[in-house]
Amino acid sequence: MMLIDAHIHLQAIQDLKTRTTLLDQIAKVHVEKLICNGIQPEDWSGVDEIAQGNERVLPFFGVHPWYADKVVSGWDAVLEHFLKKTEAGIGEVGLDKLRTEIDWRKQIEVFQRQLQIAKELSKPLAIHCVRAWGDLLLLLKQHLSSGMRFMTHSYRGSLEVMRELLDLGAYISFSWKSFQHQTGTVNDLIKEVPLERLLLETDFPYIEPHKIGTDISVERYFECLRGTYALAARAKGMNETELEKAVWENGQAFLHRTTAR
Ligand SMILES: [Zn+2]
Repeated sequence: MMLIDAHIHLQAIQDLKTRTTLLDQIAKVHVEKLICNGIQPEDWSGVDEIAQGNERVLPFFGVHPWYADKVVSGWDAVLEHFLKKTEAGIGEVGLDKLRTEIDWRKQIEVFQRQLQIAKELSKPLAIHCVRAWGDLLLLLKQHLSSGMRFMTHSYRGSLEVMRELLDLGAYISFSWKSFQHQTGTVNDLIKEVPLERLLLETDFPYIEPHKIGTDISVERYFECLRGTYALAARAKGMNETELEKAVWENGQAFLHRTTAR
């Protein structure tokens, strides 16, 4: 058995002991890969350091739309530096229209730049999108080239949008919080995702909608991870072992292989 947590923010676990214990314990429960996403230039070296210290952690570096208006010139060169020094992907990036206080043009500019870098360096992308699906599809169609890999994390769009994303080659990832807070919708969506495009994640410690959970602990992490797989297996009508195997292989394909589009 090999488990992947396709989207997490280890650097955001403030309590160092919790983070260290969590990383010590993942091996025992066969969590073989965690995709750890940066969200702004300030946390990239923290993500890098965590990944250097644990072979199971794969770093992703990116500017999240919530921080798009805070970057200073030259940020993209720093991003490329981090992407080139180690095996890494780009994330968490994207668009968020719920956060109206973040300049929309700036969100688009920063996201587009990261799409270009993904293309240039052929890196996989982890995408966050809230209430901006039309814009996202448009930008992806403009910037994706053949063989580019991307995942939409904690998916919460419509079935129609999901089908368009799948046509573009997307991996669709569902999170613990989406199972908790949009149970019906997520169960319906997950049934429609082809098994070879499904990913699962905790988004830990962001286990509450749009924020860090109040009860962050090692036990809570494993509860979220196991819970996500169990709920996904139930929704998909599969046994957990088969689902774990499929999601593991999808993770490998997303991270390492070029898929036909
Ligand atoms: Zn996230």
